[in-house]
Amino acid sequence: MSHTGRFAPSPTGLLHFGSLLAATASYLEARSQQGRWLLRLEDLDKPRESKGASASIIQTLKAYGFEWDGDILFQSQRLTAYQDALHQLKTHTYRCTCSRKQLQEDAQANNTNLIYTGRCLTQAIPEHQPAAIRLKVPSQKLKFHDAILGDYEQDLQQAVGDFVLRRADGIFAYQLAVVVDDAWQGITHIVRGADLLNNTPRQLYLQQLLGFNHPHYAHIPMATNANGQKLSKQSYAPAITPDDSIRQLVHALQFLGQNPPPPEYFSHLNTLWDWAIQHWQLNRVPKLISRPSP
Ligand code: GLU
Ligand code: ZN
Repeated sequence: MSHTGRFAPSPTGLLHFGSLLAATASYLEARSQQGRWLLRLEDLDKPRESKGASASIIQTLKAYGFEWDGDILFQSQRLTAYQDALHQLKTHTYRCTCSRKQLQEDAQANNTNLIYTGRCLTQAIPEHQPAAIRLKVPSQKLKFHDAILGDYEQDLQQAVGDFVLRRADGIFAYQLAVVVDDAWQGITHIVRGADLLNNTPRQLYLQQLLGFNHPHYAHIPMATNANGQKLSKQSYAPAITPDDSIRQLVHALQFLGQNPPPPEYFSHLNTLWDWAIQHWQLNRVPKLISRPSP
């Protein structure tokens, strides 16, 4: 199977330095192997979407010189596929009407970190009542080898509990959509931020149930701001701007352990990308977070 990678941002905010790292690393990993690189907008959670974010993400990626293969896939166009997958998983799922408050109380009572206790597993919930759909998970260690972070294992029952595949408001969960689309798009290599590392076992389990191949995974360390906080849309990481692309990309390459020459060395984005594709080595990406210089 030929190498296919992807970048899959959620349009909940503008592109920031953390997402630039994921885009850059996944792009270089694919291009340095003569692989394909696809762009997918994970735009399922319309209520959390920020207006114009999809267009702005696409525009910024273009301005930075990223070139994706084929058309952009929008998850909002793929609802039938998620519904089909949910149908296939039917014997492994059940409906759940727990309120957020109830879940929090259960978690507190059990001194756990929002691990679902299976409260609705044996409840008969009328079809007309809005309900989330949860997947029953096994008590069994799921293991995989991460190309950057090494071996990782997780017991789904202990770490997350039966997790949601479709919310009560009808929105399909990230876990289901990402697995269906990675398989459908033939993704063989996933490179993304380490904030998603502990989601991977859920995705491996779904792939197993749906009869999909497991992709290879590489999780890149999270960028931090000057206070040591992870850069995310939640912590209001500043958006990256198109006018500063060479400097930002050199900065990203530095962070990714690639020892790039200084920004002045590159007169054009093209020469920067040529250099980066030629010199890219995934095994140089550091395991530990080191703060890039501002
Ligand atoms: N859409 C997810 C995010 O922006 C990333 C999905 C993935 O790479 O698996 O956090
Ligand atoms: Zn419930």
